[in-house]
Amino acid sequence: MPATVISGRKLSKQIREELKEKVVQLNAKYGDVPKLVVVLVGDDPASISYVTAKEKGAKYVGFDSELIRKPESISEEELLSLIDELNNDESVNGILVQLPLPKHIDVDKVIDRIALAKDVDGFHPENVGNLHVGRPALLPCTPKGIITMIKSAGLNISGMNAVIVGRSNLVGKPAAMLLMNENATVTITHSRTKDLASHTKNADILVAAIGRAKFITADMVKPGAIVIDVGVNKVDGKLCGDVDYEPISEIAGFITPVPGGVGPMTITSLLENTLEAFINQKK
Ligand code: NAP
Repeated sequence: MPATVISGRKLSKQIREELKEKVVQLNAKYGDVPKLVVVLVGDDPASISYVTAKEKGAKYVGFDSELIRKPESISEEELLSLIDELNNDESVNGILVQLPLPKHIDVDKVIDRIALAKDVDGFHPENVGNLHVGRPALLPCTPKGIITMIKSAGLNISGMNAVIVGRSNLVGKPAAMLLMNENATVTITHSRTKDLASHTKNADILVAAIGRAKFITADMVKPGAIVIDVGVNKVDGKLCGDVDYEPISEIAGFITPVPGGVGPMTITSLLENTLEAFINQKK
């Protein structure tokens, strides 16, 4: 039987409608709506398309949203003082600096500078630390979206073997932590892992976050597995994931498509985080 497709697009639509209603209620209560500011440095086409989608999502749910564009030549000092301004601006609830940044800017310094309460990407080391020790934290958007997707399919993660391919700070590591918090037994694999397939074949939940088109092949997947494809790659001008979708959808139990899977849910999680940040700041 072909796998059930977990559509991030469909789920996002549903969650965004719910967010829209919450914004109306919050506006009635506080006379104010959440405000998200996205900072884009340079004009990388992929980054432009990501920030456009984020802005569009924010506007759709009724947030106030602003895109601040700065030239590639902006100095680190100038960018840091822009973040200071946004940190001090009470009307701003969430700040997102689109990555990657130009090489002359230290990305760690930029992330560290964003006020913890406004770090809606969940990348600030203190947010990451809070997540690790089980304290309240704004969760990183892509892994948060993954958990929402799995749960939306009515699946109970507890006790499952989760295998993550990729160990980046953005995706692999926080996905491992969130899955462990859901009581999965987690294995993180990477480019130095020996006999990768021996791990992936054991996965009830397989998360592919590598950045290589169709890297995960059908012989690496356990029948019935939940396959989450985070990868975004371009092949012959077309988007495709890290998972060899067609053959794997014949054997997996559940699968996320690319496009229309993890991508839209990442943005939806960002909107959820901005709403959460707004509520926390109003308390
Ligand atoms: P990244 O920082 O480049 O990390 C890639 C990971 O894959 C690394 O941990 C690397 O291992 C591992 N890897 C590379 N080759 C491998 C191999 N042959 N076998 C096993 N593991 C291997 O990438 P990322 O930021 O995590 O992103 C991963 C993909 O997800 C990209 O396509 C990105 O565009 C996409 N993405 C999508 C979204 C979304 O919203 N849809 C969000 C974020 C990222 P080492 O650590 O050993 O080098």
